[in-house]
Amino acid sequence: MSETIDCVVVGAGVIGLAIAARLARAGQEVILLESAEAIGTGISSRNSEVIHAGLYYKPGSLKARLCVTGKDRLYAFCAAHGVAHQRIGKLIVATGPSEIAELEAIARKAEANGVHDLEWMEPDAVRRLEPEIACVAALHSPSTGIVDAHGLMLALQGEAEAAGAMIALHAPAEAGTIEDRGFRLQVGGAQPMELRCRRLVNAAGLGAQSLARALGGLDPALVPPLHYCKGNYFSLAGKTPFRHLVYPAPDDAWLGVHLTLDLAGRARFGPDVEWIERPDYTVDPNRAGAFYESVRRYWPRLPDDALLPAYCGVRPKLVPAGIPSPDWMIQGRSVHGVPGLVNLFGIESPGLTSSLAIAEEATRLLD
Ligand SMILES: Cc1cc2nc3c(=O)[nH]c(=O)nc-3n(C[C@H](O)[C@H](O)[C@H](O)COP(=O)(O)OP(=O)(O)OC[C@H]3O[C@@H](n4cnc5c(N)ncnc54)[C@H](O)[C@@H]3O)c2cc1C
Repeated sequence: MSETIDCVVVGAGVIGLAIAARLARAGQEVILLESAEAIGTGISSRNSEVIHAGLYYKPGSLKARLCVTGKDRLYAFCAAHGVAHQRIGKLIVATGPSEIAELEAIARKAEANGVHDLEWMEPDAVRRLEPEIACVAALHSPSTGIVDAHGLMLALQGEAEAAGAMIALHAPAEAGTIEDRGFRLQVGGAQPMELRCRRLVNAAGLGAQSLARALGGLDPALVPPLHYCKGNYFSLAGKTPFRHLVYPAPDDAWLGVHLTLDLAGRARFGPDVEWIERPDYTVDPNRAGAFYESVRRYWPRLPDDALLPAYCGVRPKLVPAGIPSPDWMIQGRSVHGVPGLVNLFGIESPGLTSSLAIAEEATRLLD
Protein backbone atom coordinates (compact mmCIF):
# COMPACT_ATOMS: atom_id res chain seq x y z
CA MET A 1 0.00 0.00 0.00
CA SER A 2 1.38 3.48 -0.79
CA GLU A 3 -0.42 6.76 -0.06
CA THR A 4 0.57 10.41 0.27
CA ILE A 5 -0.92 12.28 3.18
CA ASP A 6 -0.33 15.66 4.83
CA CYS A 7 1.18 14.63 8.16
CA VAL A 8 2.51 11.58 9.90
CA VAL A 9 3.15 11.84 13.63
CA VAL A 10 5.15 8.99 15.14
CA GLY A 11 4.42 8.03 18.76
CA ALA A 12 1.06 8.09 20.54
CA GLY A 13 2.32 9.28 23.91
CA VAL A 14 1.03 12.52 25.35
CA ILE A 15 3.28 14.57 23.04
CA GLY A 16 2.36 12.82 19.77
CA LEU A 17 -1.32 12.84 20.70
CA ALA A 18 -1.26 16.56 21.48
CA ILE A 19 0.52 17.30 18.20
CA ALA A 20 -1.82 15.07 16.17
CA ALA A 21 -4.88 16.72 17.75
CA ARG A 22 -3.53 20.17 17.01
CA LEU A 23 -2.67 19.37 13.39
CA ALA A 24 -6.01 17.66 12.77
CA ARG A 25 -7.90 20.60 14.29
CA ALA A 26 -6.04 22.87 11.88
CA GLY A 27 -7.50 20.84 9.00
CA GLN A 28 -4.48 18.65 8.25
CA GLU A 29 -4.90 15.04 7.26
CA VAL A 30 -3.03 13.16 10.02
CA ILE A 31 -1.94 9.58 10.65
CA LEU A 32 -0.52 8.87 14.10
CA LEU A 33 1.67 5.76 14.13
CA GLU A 34 2.12 3.85 17.38
CA SER A 35 4.24 0.71 17.65
CA ALA A 36 2.53 -0.60 20.80
CA GLU A 37 -0.91 -2.18 21.08
CA ALA A 38 -2.45 0.91 22.71
CA ILE A 39 -1.86 4.63 23.10
CA GLY A 40 0.13 5.96 26.04
CA THR A 41 1.97 2.86 27.21
CA GLY A 42 5.41 4.55 27.22
CA ILE A 43 6.84 7.33 29.39
CA SER A 44 3.47 9.05 29.51
CA SER A 45 1.90 6.34 31.66
CA ARG A 46 4.89 5.96 33.98
CA ASN A 47 5.38 9.27 35.73
CA SER A 48 4.28 11.30 38.77
CA GLU A 49 1.23 12.86 37.04
CA VAL A 50 2.18 16.22 38.49
CA ILE A 51 1.22 19.49 36.81
CA HIS A 52 4.43 21.39 37.45
CA ALA A 53 4.35 25.11 38.15
CA GLY A 54 7.61 25.89 36.31
CA LEU A 55 9.90 26.54 39.26
CA TYR A 56 13.08 24.64 38.56
CA TYR A 57 14.02 25.25 34.96
CA LYS A 58 16.62 27.63 33.60
CA PRO A 59 14.95 30.93 32.72
CA GLY A 60 14.51 31.26 28.97
CA SER A 61 14.83 27.50 28.33
CA LEU A 62 12.18 25.53 26.46
CA LYS A 63 11.47 23.65 29.69
CA ALA A 64 10.78 26.89 31.57
CA ARG A 65 8.80 28.61 28.84
CA LEU A 66 6.71 25.64 27.74
CA CYS A 67 6.06 24.45 31.29
CA VAL A 68 4.64 27.79 32.40
CA THR A 69 2.49 28.17 29.26
CA GLY A 70 1.67 24.45 29.20
CA LYS A 71 0.44 24.47 32.80
CA ASP A 72 -2.19 27.11 31.98
CA ARG A 73 -3.16 25.34 28.75
CA LEU A 74 -3.42 22.03 30.60
CA TYR A 75 -5.65 23.33 33.40
CA ALA A 76 -7.94 24.92 30.80
CA PHE A 77 -7.98 21.78 28.64
CA CYS A 78 -8.75 19.51 31.60
CA ALA A 79 -11.59 21.77 32.73
CA ALA A 80 -13.06 21.95 29.22
CA HIS A 81 -12.78 18.22 28.51
CA GLY A 82 -13.66 16.75 31.89
CA VAL A 83 -10.17 15.33 32.52
CA ALA A 84 -9.73 14.56 36.22
CA HIS A 85 -7.25 16.95 37.83
CA GLN A 86 -6.77 18.89 41.03
CA ARG A 87 -4.88 22.09 41.83
CA ILE A 88 -3.63 20.53 45.02
CA GLY A 89 -0.52 22.65 45.70
CA LYS A 90 2.89 21.53 46.84
CA LEU A 91 5.43 22.21 49.57
CA ILE A 92 9.15 22.23 48.86
CA VAL A 93 10.82 21.70 52.19
CA ALA A 94 14.24 22.55 53.59
CA THR A 95 15.09 19.96 56.23
CA GLY A 96 18.22 21.74 57.48
CA PRO A 97 19.65 25.29 57.44
CA SER A 98 21.98 24.39 54.55
CA GLU A 99 18.97 23.84 52.27
CA ILE A 100 17.49 27.28 52.80
CA ALA A 101 19.71 28.68 50.05
CA GLU A 102 18.21 26.06 47.68
CA LEU A 103 14.72 27.32 48.42
CA GLU A 104 15.82 30.89 47.89
CA ALA A 105 17.34 29.93 44.54
CA ILE A 106 14.07 28.23 43.50
CA ALA A 107 12.09 31.32 44.50
CA ARG A 108 14.37 33.51 42.34
CA LYS A 109 14.16 31.12 39.39
CA ALA A 110 10.38 30.92 39.69
CA GLU A 111 10.11 34.72 39.57
CA ALA A 112 12.35 34.82 36.49
CA ASN A 113 10.11 32.19 34.88
CA GLY A 114 6.99 34.27 35.52
CA VAL A 115 5.70 32.20 38.44
CA HIS A 116 4.76 34.82 41.01
CA ASP A 117 2.55 32.87 43.42
CA LEU A 118 5.17 31.14 45.62
CA GLU A 119 4.78 31.68 49.31
CA TRP A 120 7.62 31.41 51.86
CA MET A 121 6.58 29.44 54.97
CA GLU A 122 8.05 29.14 58.42
CA PRO A 123 7.77 25.77 60.23
CA ASP A 124 4.65 26.79 62.21
CA ALA A 125 2.76 27.63 59.04
CA VAL A 126 3.89 24.35 57.45
CA ARG A 127 2.71 22.42 60.52
CA ARG A 128 -0.75 23.97 60.16
CA LEU A 129 -0.92 22.69 56.57
CA GLU A 130 0.86 19.37 57.08
CA PRO A 131 1.35 18.46 60.77
CA GLU A 132 3.57 15.44 59.98
CA ILE A 133 6.22 17.35 58.01
CA ALA A 134 9.50 18.26 59.70
CA CYS A 135 11.31 21.21 58.16
CA VAL A 136 13.06 24.48 58.90
CA ALA A 137 11.30 26.36 56.07
CA ALA A 138 9.24 25.64 52.98
CA LEU A 139 7.97 27.14 49.77
CA HIS A 140 4.31 26.67 48.96
CA SER A 141 3.40 26.46 45.29
CA PRO A 142 -0.38 26.78 44.97
CA SER A 143 -0.47 26.33 41.18
CA THR A 144 1.10 22.85 41.24
CA GLY A 145 -1.46 20.13 40.63
CA ILE A 146 -2.11 16.53 39.65
CA VAL A 147 -3.76 15.10 36.57
CA ASP A 148 -5.03 11.76 35.34
CA ALA A 149 -2.41 11.26 32.61
CA HIS A 150 -4.31 8.47 30.90
CA GLY A 151 -7.55 10.46 31.00
CA LEU A 152 -5.67 13.34 29.40
CA MET A 153 -4.39 11.09 26.62
CA LEU A 154 -7.86 9.65 26.00
CA ALA A 155 -9.23 13.18 25.70
CA LEU A 156 -6.48 14.12 23.24
CA GLN A 157 -7.16 10.94 21.25
CA GLY A 158 -10.87 11.86 21.17
CA GLU A 159 -10.04 15.37 19.94
CA ALA A 160 -7.66 14.09 17.28
CA GLU A 161 -10.08 11.48 15.99
CA ALA A 162 -13.05 13.86 16.07
CA ALA A 163 -11.02 16.18 13.84
CA GLY A 164 -10.32 13.32 11.41
CA ALA A 165 -6.92 11.98 12.53
CA MET A 166 -6.35 8.25 12.19
CA ILE A 167 -4.45 6.37 14.89
CA ALA A 168 -2.69 3.21 13.72
CA LEU A 169 -1.67 0.83 16.52
CA HIS A 170 0.88 -2.00 16.11
CA ALA A 171 2.39 0.28 13.48
CA PRO A 172 6.09 0.98 14.12
CA ALA A 173 7.78 3.51 11.84
CA GLU A 174 10.91 1.54 11.02
CA ALA A 175 12.80 3.69 8.55
CA GLY A 176 12.30 6.49 6.09
CA THR A 177 13.79 8.63 3.38
CA ILE A 178 13.72 12.37 2.92
CA GLU A 179 12.52 13.13 -0.60
CA ASP A 180 12.06 16.28 -2.65
CA ARG A 181 8.68 17.26 -1.29
CA GLY A 182 8.25 15.11 1.77
CA PHE A 183 9.03 11.74 3.22
CA ARG A 184 8.67 8.07 2.43
CA LEU A 185 8.21 5.90 5.52
CA GLN A 186 8.42 2.15 6.02
CA VAL A 187 5.89 1.00 8.56
CA GLY A 188 6.16 -2.51 10.01
CA GLY A 189 3.93 -4.44 12.37
CA ALA A 190 0.61 -6.11 11.69
CA GLN A 191 0.06 -4.49 8.30
CA PRO A 192 3.40 -3.43 6.83
CA MET A 193 3.07 -0.54 4.43
CA GLU A 194 4.86 2.35 2.85
CA LEU A 195 3.53 5.83 3.56
CA ARG A 196 4.33 9.08 1.84
CA CYS A 197 3.75 12.31 3.70
CA ARG A 198 4.55 15.99 3.31
CA ARG A 199 5.25 16.55 7.00
CA LEU A 200 6.72 14.27 9.60
CA VAL A 201 6.86 14.65 13.37
CA ASN A 202 9.05 12.28 15.33
CA ALA A 203 7.55 12.17 18.85
CA ALA A 204 8.67 8.60 19.55
CA GLY A 205 9.95 9.19 23.11
CA LEU A 206 12.54 6.52 23.89
CA GLY A 207 12.43 5.53 20.19
CA ALA A 208 13.04 9.04 18.80
CA GLN A 209 16.80 8.66 18.31
CA SER A 210 16.62 5.31 16.53
CA LEU A 211 13.89 6.56 14.19
CA ALA A 212 15.87 9.73 13.40
CA ARG A 213 18.97 7.62 12.68
CA ALA A 214 16.90 5.49 10.27
CA LEU A 215 15.80 8.57 8.28
CA GLY A 216 17.90 8.55 5.13
CA GLY A 217 18.99 12.10 4.30
CA LEU A 218 19.07 13.43 7.88
CA ASP A 219 22.55 14.32 9.15
CA PRO A 220 23.20 11.67 11.87
CA ALA A 221 25.46 14.13 13.69
CA LEU A 222 22.29 16.02 14.67
CA VAL A 223 20.83 13.04 16.51
CA PRO A 224 21.79 13.33 20.20
CA PRO A 225 22.82 10.33 22.32
CA LEU A 226 20.18 8.59 24.42
CA HIS A 227 20.79 7.42 28.00
CA TYR A 228 18.20 5.61 30.07
CA CYS A 229 17.52 6.74 33.62
CA LYS A 230 14.94 4.78 35.51
CA GLY A 231 12.79 6.37 38.20
CA ASN A 232 11.27 3.91 40.69
CA TYR A 233 8.21 4.53 42.85
CA PHE A 234 7.09 3.00 46.14
CA SER A 235 3.51 3.36 47.30
CA LEU A 236 2.42 3.97 50.86
CA ALA A 237 0.42 1.16 52.45
CA GLY A 238 -2.60 2.53 54.28
CA LYS A 239 -4.00 5.99 54.64
CA THR A 240 -1.85 9.03 53.96
CA PRO A 241 -1.77 11.91 56.44
CA PHE A 242 -0.95 14.40 53.63
CA ARG A 243 -3.10 16.73 51.57
CA HIS A 244 -0.33 18.40 49.54
CA LEU A 245 2.52 17.18 47.39
CA VAL A 246 5.79 17.35 49.32
CA TYR A 247 9.18 17.74 47.64
CA PRO A 248 12.57 17.92 49.30
CA ALA A 249 14.95 20.71 48.24
CA PRO A 250 16.21 19.51 44.84
CA ASP A 251 19.61 17.99 44.39
CA ASP A 252 21.11 19.32 41.14
CA ALA A 253 18.69 18.66 38.31
CA TRP A 254 16.88 15.90 40.21
CA LEU A 255 13.81 16.84 42.22
CA GLY A 256 14.44 14.22 44.90
CA VAL A 257 12.22 11.43 46.22
CA HIS A 258 8.99 13.32 46.60
CA LEU A 259 5.55 12.53 47.88
CA THR A 260 2.78 12.71 45.34
CA LEU A 261 -0.87 11.92 45.72
CA ASP A 262 -3.05 10.46 43.03
CA LEU A 263 -6.58 11.61 42.36
CA ALA A 264 -7.93 8.91 44.68
CA GLY A 265 -5.81 10.38 47.51
CA ARG A 266 -3.29 7.50 47.60
CA ALA A 267 0.31 8.43 48.31
CA ARG A 268 3.42 7.27 46.50
CA PHE A 269 7.08 8.23 46.77
CA GLY A 270 9.57 8.63 43.97
CA PRO A 271 11.03 8.70 41.48
CA ASP A 272 14.59 7.85 42.43
CA VAL A 273 17.48 7.75 39.97
CA GLU A 274 18.80 4.48 38.53
CA TRP A 275 20.92 4.62 35.36
CA ILE A 276 20.33 1.53 33.21
CA GLU A 277 21.64 0.06 29.94
CA ARG A 278 18.23 -0.58 28.38
CA PRO A 279 14.60 0.04 29.41
CA ASP A 280 13.21 -2.42 31.93
CA TYR A 281 10.22 -1.90 34.14
CA THR A 282 10.92 -3.98 37.23
CA VAL A 283 11.18 -2.29 40.62
CA ASP A 284 13.85 -3.78 42.86
CA PRO A 285 12.33 -4.07 46.38
CA ASN A 286 15.84 -3.64 47.83
CA ARG A 287 15.74 0.02 46.87
CA ALA A 288 13.23 0.57 49.69
CA GLY A 289 16.03 1.25 52.22
CA ALA A 290 17.14 4.39 50.40
CA PHE A 291 13.51 5.53 50.14
CA TYR A 292 12.96 5.23 53.90
CA GLU A 293 16.12 7.26 54.47
CA SER A 294 15.16 10.03 52.01
CA VAL A 295 11.53 10.28 53.06
CA ARG A 296 12.25 10.27 56.82
CA ARG A 297 14.27 13.45 56.38
CA TYR A 298 10.95 15.28 55.90
CA TRP A 299 8.52 12.70 57.33
CA PRO A 300 10.30 11.25 60.41
CA ARG A 301 7.25 9.23 61.47
CA LEU A 302 7.06 7.17 58.27
CA PRO A 303 6.21 3.73 59.75
CA ASP A 304 8.40 0.69 59.12
CA ASP A 305 7.15 -1.66 56.39
CA ALA A 306 4.87 1.02 54.95
CA LEU A 307 6.51 1.23 51.52
CA LEU A 308 5.60 -1.19 48.75
CA PRO A 309 7.33 -1.43 45.34
CA ALA A 310 4.94 0.18 42.84
CA TYR A 311 6.08 1.02 39.30
CA CYS A 312 8.80 2.84 37.41
CA GLY A 313 9.36 5.02 34.37
CA VAL A 314 12.39 5.61 32.18
CA ARG A 315 13.67 9.12 31.46
CA PRO A 316 15.03 9.73 27.95
CA LYS A 317 18.26 11.48 29.00
CA LEU A 318 20.48 13.22 26.47
CA VAL A 319 23.53 13.12 28.77
CA PRO A 320 24.97 10.40 31.02
CA ALA A 321 25.02 10.29 34.83
CA GLY A 322 26.76 13.17 36.53
CA ILE A 323 25.98 15.83 33.91
CA PRO A 324 23.05 18.19 34.54
CA SER A 325 20.17 17.63 32.11
CA PRO A 326 20.23 19.95 29.13
CA ASP A 327 17.13 21.51 27.63
CA TRP A 328 14.73 19.55 25.45
CA MET A 329 15.67 19.37 21.78
CA ILE A 330 12.86 20.23 19.42
CA GLN A 331 14.55 20.35 16.05
CA GLY A 332 12.93 21.98 13.05
CA ARG A 333 14.20 23.17 9.70
CA SER A 334 16.49 25.85 11.16
CA VAL A 335 18.50 23.04 12.81
CA HIS A 336 18.49 20.25 10.21
CA GLY A 337 17.56 22.07 7.01
CA VAL A 338 14.70 19.70 6.14
CA PRO A 339 11.34 21.42 5.55
CA GLY A 340 8.36 19.68 7.14
CA LEU A 341 10.34 17.67 9.69
CA VAL A 342 10.32 18.03 13.47
CA ASN A 343 12.27 15.72 15.80
CA LEU A 344 11.67 15.83 19.54
CA PHE A 345 14.48 14.47 21.71
CA GLY A 346 14.90 14.14 25.47
CA ILE A 347 11.33 15.05 26.41
CA GLU A 348 11.65 14.26 30.09
CA SER A 349 9.85 16.07 32.92
CA PRO A 350 7.96 18.43 32.75
CA GLY A 351 6.83 17.03 29.38
CA LEU A 352 3.40 15.95 30.60
CA THR A 353 2.63 19.41 31.99
CA SER A 354 3.99 21.07 28.87
CA SER A 355 2.42 18.73 26.30
CA LEU A 356 -0.04 21.24 24.83
CA ALA A 357 2.60 23.98 24.66
CA ILE A 358 5.12 21.55 23.12
CA ALA A 359 2.48 20.75 20.49
CA GLU A 360 2.19 24.46 19.72
CA GLU A 361 5.96 24.77 19.42
CA ALA A 362 6.31 21.66 17.21
CA THR A 363 3.53 22.70 14.82
CA ARG A 364 5.01 26.21 14.64
CA LEU A 365 8.34 24.67 13.59
CA LEU A 366 6.56 22.54 10.96
CA ASP A 367 5.23 25.73 9.38
C1 LIG B 1 9.80 8.86 36.21
C2 LIG B 1 9.19 10.01 35.47
C3 LIG B 1 8.39 10.94 36.14
C4 LIG B 1 7.83 12.00 35.44
N1 LIG B 1 6.98 12.86 36.09
C5 LIG B 1 6.42 13.87 35.42
C6 LIG B 1 5.50 14.74 36.06
O1 LIG B 1 5.11 14.53 37.21
N2 LIG B 1 5.03 15.81 35.38
C7 LIG B 1 5.39 16.06 34.10
O2 LIG B 1 4.99 17.07 33.54
N3 LIG B 1 6.21 15.22 33.43
C8 LIG B 1 6.71 14.12 34.06
N4 LIG B 1 7.53 13.25 33.40
C9 LIG B 1 7.80 13.49 31.99
C10 LIG B 1 6.68 13.03 31.07
O3 LIG B 1 6.13 11.80 31.51
C11 LIG B 1 7.22 12.89 29.65
O4 LIG B 1 7.86 14.09 29.29
C12 LIG B 1 6.16 12.61 28.62
O5 LIG B 1 5.29 11.59 29.04
C13 LIG B 1 6.84 12.20 27.30
O6 LIG B 1 5.83 11.81 26.40
P1 LIG B 1 6.21 11.29 24.96
O7 LIG B 1 4.94 11.30 24.20
O8 LIG B 1 7.37 12.07 24.43
O9 LIG B 1 6.77 9.82 25.19
P2 LIG B 1 6.00 8.43 25.29
O10 LIG B 1 4.85 8.52 26.20
O11 LIG B 1 7.02 7.39 25.58
O12 LIG B 1 5.42 8.23 23.83
C14 LIG B 1 6.22 7.82 22.75
C15 LIG B 1 5.46 6.73 22.02
O13 LIG B 1 6.17 6.42 20.83
C16 LIG B 1 6.03 5.04 20.59
N5 LIG B 1 7.11 4.69 19.66
C17 LIG B 1 8.45 4.60 19.89
N6 LIG B 1 9.11 4.31 18.76
C18 LIG B 1 8.17 4.22 17.78
C19 LIG B 1 8.24 3.96 16.39
N7 LIG B 1 9.40 3.76 15.76
N8 LIG B 1 7.08 3.90 15.67
C20 LIG B 1 5.88 4.11 16.28
N9 LIG B 1 5.75 4.38 17.61
C21 LIG B 1 6.90 4.44 18.34
C22 LIG B 1 6.14 4.43 21.97
O14 LIG B 1 5.55 3.13 22.00
C23 LIG B 1 5.37 5.44 22.80
O15 LIG B 1 4.01 5.10 22.94
C24 LIG B 1 8.09 12.16 34.05
C25 LIG B 1 8.87 11.22 33.38
C26 LIG B 1 9.41 10.14 34.07
C27 LIG B 1 10.22 9.11 33.34
